[in-house]
Amino acid sequence: SKDQGGGAHNQYEPKLHVHAEERRVMEIALRKALDNDEFSLNYQPVVSADTGGVMGFEALLRWTNPEFGIVSPAKFIPLAEDARLIVPIGEWVMRTACKEAMKWPATVKIAVNVSADQLTDPSFLDMVVSALHDSELPAQRLEIEVTESIFMREGTGATQVLDQIIGLGINLSLDDFGTGYSSLGYLRKTRFSTIKVDRSFVQGAAKKVPESLAIIRAVVAMADSLGMTTTAEGAETEEEVKMIQKLGCSKIQGYYFGRPMASHDALELFKDHNPD
Ligand code: C2E
Ligand code: CA
Ligand code: CA
Ligand code: CA
Repeated sequence: SKDQGGGAHNQYEPKLHVHAEERRVMEIALRKALDNDEFSLNYQPVVSADTGGVMGFEALLRWTNPEFGIVSPAKFIPLAEDARLIVPIGEWVMRTACKEAMKWPATVKIAVNVSADQLTDPSFLDMVVSALHDSELPAQRLEIEVTESIFMREGTGATQVLDQIIGLGINLSLDDFGTGYSSLGYLRKTRFSTIKVDRSFVQGAAKKVPESLAIIRAVVAMADSLGMTTTAEGAETEEEVKMIQKLGCSKIQGYYFGRPMASHDALELFKDHNPD
């Protein structure tokens, strides 16, 4: 259904229906994607704001399907969650990321995104322990990223699982900070290592938007007094990098330093940035 804009509206082909049909077909393809080896991981560098040295990489899932081409995770992750496929897919991500990280120098950390549906699955902790054991990756090199939405799942035991993750020695990061759930109460209860400041604030700060500047300053101060660090997400320009450094975030991630890339390229980038 092509909408050329301003043209007549086709009442017999409601958009919602087309959307649902596409979702249905995509869901069928998604069900076969693991068996067909259609997933891969890209790795994006996270650098020290002070030195520019690479501290670690974030694993980002990619799906390449013969029919749909490259599908954005922003599109297929919600679909995988609805179809209850996120648990097996997430296990593949965790095991693959831990194994890849073992090919890198022992200082390099690997961050893995985990959605609320995965975290509240009863087998989640056992799966993580098993992935660490099988890959022999030390827990201290693994970071698990969750978003604020996790705290909207009351009665699911999510916060207890977070505590158990921390108990294993894994670093916990709070992703997309400032874009979701608005209460800060949970920050008293859960010992995150890192708060990731959403890209929207980074962009705003570089443009000197007073609210963005104030929010980043407040997050940095709050993280500092809670014994947490901050990572600024989505820095693309030199102005953004300079502003982040000035505001005191400890780590930076963004296209300016590197896009998500294949494991081999990630290792090369590490060597370029971290000469010994
Ligand atoms: P996220 O966790 O916030 O990941 C950061 C996203 O921002 C990535 O998009 C990354 O490519 C993009 N990004 C990084 N630097 C820049 C920049 O400088 N400019 C711009 N414009 N974008 C930048 P991506 O890879 O498309 O992933 C989108 C989202 O999908 C992720 O957001 C995450 O929520 C989810 N996701 C990705 N992989 C996984 C996974 O393995 N498991 C789960 N549960 N979710 C995943
Ligand atoms: Ca993330
Ligand atoms: Ca993020
Ligand atoms: Ca995001």
